[in-house]
Amino acid sequence: MTEDTISQIATAYGAGGIGIIRVSGADAFAVARQIFRPVRGDLGEITPYRAHYGQITAADSGVIDEGILLPMRAPHSYTGEDVVELQCHGGSIVLREVLLRTWEAGARPAEAGEFTKRAFLNGRLDLTRAEGVMELIAAKSARSARAARERMAGALSQEIAAIRHRLLGAIARIEAGIDFPEDDIPAASAAALREDITAAASAVRRLLTGANAGRILREGVKTVIVGRPNVGKSSLLNALVGTERAIVTDVPGTTRDVIEEEISIEGIPLRLLDTAGLRAAEDAVEQIGVARTEQHMRDAELVLAVFDSSSELTEEDHELIARLREMNAETIILCNKEDCARVLRVADFDGVNAPVLMISAQAGTGLDALRETIAARVQMMEGDLSDGALPNKEREVEALQRAARHLSEAEKTLAAEMGTDFISIDLRGAYDTLGAILGETVDTDLIDRIFSEFCIGK
Ligand code: GDP
Ligand code: ZN
Repeated sequence: MTEDTISQIATAYGAGGIGIIRVSGADAFAVARQIFRPVRGDLGEITPYRAHYGQITAADSGVIDEGILLPMRAPHSYTGEDVVELQCHGGSIVLREVLLRTWEAGARPAEAGEFTKRAFLNGRLDLTRAEGVMELIAAKSARSARAARERMAGALSQEIAAIRHRLLGAIARIEAGIDFPEDDIPAASAAALREDITAAASAVRRLLTGANAGRILREGVKTVIVGRPNVGKSSLLNALVGTERAIVTDVPGTTRDVIEEEISIEGIPLRLLDTAGLRAAEDAVEQIGVARTEQHMRDAELVLAVFDSSSELTEEDHELIARLREMNAETIILCNKEDCARVLRVADFDGVNAPVLMISAQAGTGLDALRETIAARVQMMEGDLSDGALPNKEREVEALQRAARHLSEAEKTLAAEMGTDFISIDLRGAYDTLGAILGETVDTDLIDRIFSEFCIGK
């Protein structure tokens, strides 16, 4: 424990019944001794893992608050260092005062994610599990929370470890074979080697296939609401969000910029975008809106195309339908204003590969069916989204792709019956690359960057 001692408020800001200050590092117990006065006895012998009740005192030994001190001894703590937690009243002023007091007593402010970073550096968790912690805190839907919990428990690390174990076995086989006279692998060994490599390669590919689903859990399905002005796009966004977020007016073209909201449908996170529409715009501001709509439609994963069921299709509607026919994204056609006299027919949307639903954004009818359809469509695209073993980071996907390349090289070399040295190099390459996902072989800059994305106090 050469590191200095850090402290930070571990609970959420704002008023709460209890707030917790966490202090971690070699001097954590010394800090506690200076600022905490137990009701009984003194802190001469701090008993770890026991709650001590007492007062948190100012430098002039006045009382800041009363509360509970919970000491934990290295290595049996979250960070793997000596840790004390001070539970006091959860007001933001009092927490701030206690925090300042820990700094006076020798701790320094913890950076974002620094506790978890120390846990990682002290070998308490690997990188994927540390990221699971962050994801659980940030989870916006039940499904994402479940996946984050699994990741935190090691679902992805175990998958990776199993693949690496296989690779190590293959490397050992080759090394045993190098002692053979002609530097050739006996037939039986070659077959076993092929099996190891194939199994590892297909496990890596399986993880890569799941990567998009993992990303969706983290970032949400990019869902774009399109349609000509006044069909009820903003009303639909508001109805799905449950509050008035977008401006609803009778004036076409009111949503000039894109409004984005995050919602959760049956546990699936969605990034919902209300767009400006696609019509030829007159003024410059509106033109920007239209250009953005175009861009958003191009990278949408789900498109909610809204039409006004109470009026005939316009030129703009026909243009949109033509576009929908060519699009790859999952699409749902919504005939809004079903509370009014109905003019549109399902046949109007022939040739578009999408379900057609009747809704009223204003009256709130048809929205449950819409939610069910959205959930079904997303699951059709991505399969089961609640798997904590899915890679979901740029970094992880990139490493898996590199590992996959190494393994297909190894497969090729083996098939061509070329030198085993080359196979061995590729297998080691794959082994190290996979190790980077767990944080075994990454440099400190990257580690710093990853943990700086954590929240303060974790
Ligand atoms: P946008 O331009 O596509 O975003 O459309 P808005 O959401 O701003 O709505 C345009 C107009 O249609 C407003 O006057 C809304 O009150 C009205 N509207 C929206 N949804 C419905 C609906 O389901 N039924 C009826 N009757 N009117 C609606
Ligand atoms: Zn609008």
